[in-house]
Amino acid sequence: MKALLWHGKQDIRCETVPDPVIEEPTDAIVRITSTAICGSDLHLYDGYVPFMKPGDIMGHEPMGIVEEVGSAVTNLKRGDRVVIPFTICCGSCWFCQKGLWSCCDTTNRKPEIAQKLMGHAPAGLFGYSALTGEYPGGQAQFLRVPHANVICLKIENSLPDEQVLFLSDVFPTGWMAAENADIEPGETVAVWGCGPVGQFSIQSAWMMGAGRVIAIDRVPERLRMAQEHGRADVIDMSEGHVYDRIQEMTNGRGADRCIDAVGAEAHAFGSVDSMMDAVKVMLLQETDRPHVLREAIMCCRKGGTISMPGVYVGLGDKIPLGAFMNKGLTLKTGQTHMLRYMEPLLRRIEGGEIDPSFIITHVLPIDEGPNAYKTFREKQDGCIKVVLKPWDEPRAQA
Ligand code: NAD
Ligand code: ZN
Repeated sequence: MKALLWHGKQDIRCETVPDPVIEEPTDAIVRITSTAICGSDLHLYDGYVPFMKPGDIMGHEPMGIVEEVGSAVTNLKRGDRVVIPFTICCGSCWFCQKGLWSCCDTTNRKPEIAQKLMGHAPAGLFGYSALTGEYPGGQAQFLRVPHANVICLKIENSLPDEQVLFLSDVFPTGWMAAENADIEPGETVAVWGCGPVGQFSIQSAWMMGAGRVIAIDRVPERLRMAQEHGRADVIDMSEGHVYDRIQEMTNGRGADRCIDAVGAEAHAFGSVDSMMDAVKVMLLQETDRPHVLREAIMCCRKGGTISMPGVYVGLGDKIPLGAFMNKGLTLKTGQTHMLRYMEPLLRRIEGGEIDPSFIITHVLPIDEGPNAYKTFREKQDGCIKVVLKPWDEPRAQA
């Protein structure tokens, strides 16, 4: 089959590799019909996660048609249409039973790496290095889905892939980001980052009763989408000090709830902290550039909440803990507990409350994946979200 393989920093190639096969009775093999590139893939692309090896298959936002199921998969059959979440969960461990799906205790096949770095290993993720279990990803023509009986979301309507695909990650992630922000009716929510996660955080904040949304980025078309589709007041971070602007916009109180939808690869213009981050990352004394988290702590009103869907990988310095503590802030974060949200959000899509396809700017064959990574990373050609099609033409279903 064709798949997008990681070969090193900023080196993705479309190559032919063996088709996956059923390995466990709870597996399914899914023929992928649509698969997206995520901001999280850029952390791998940019070499931020040092546990990738050449030949690893990328991708964790796929959907498709079930091709084959293992003997223990009783709720799916060949021909079923499914969305696959980026997290792999067993459904039966203590964490899954508590609904802490992204903390599943059994699916990270290399837990010793994460245990050493983090104290405990989070769940296995598709296409996201040995740190999260070394599972081949979904930017491929076929995907082996472990625990398919637990994690697959069956799609029984006739909505096109483009409307349901983002249930695999970025819509639930934006939703959980807004939920974690503890928004009370009428409150002001500031969202850093107007990529797909930021855009779905904005949409979700409104659905949860926000009174005002402020969106921060520097990419014109992303700010425009936040403004026009997201009805947000926008701050172009390249035009000046974000803190001053938020102070002005909130009469000096600060934003009630802040969402960091940027994560470890924040950009910043000439600020002292960002220059120090750049040097320290270069000298291997820091892995992450937590500029946005620092800024959110300063911009959040006293007693407010910071929600952090943005991915951090390792160590970040100079977090203003004094401000965080003395202002009485709350911080909530995590890889998304996908299985809590996929089905309820599917119902909202079916009910016409939201059409997630607004985010798509590029639909391309998988062979163009390597260039698509570059276009997405460089934010060229107005790129906000890429959907890849692994098959030239839809194959007839048997
Ligand atoms: P993206 O790369 O498309 O978007 C990030 C945006 O942040 C860009 O538009 C960029 O211009 C902007 N940005 C950079 N520096 C900024 C700053 N200082 N202030 C404001 N904006 C700034 O990525 P995405 O797909 O939207 O994902 C966003 C983050 O969410 C990534 O870190 C990704 O890994 C993470 N993520 C987390 C989960 C989860 O389960 N928690 C799931 C998916 C993605
Ligand atoms: Zn993703």
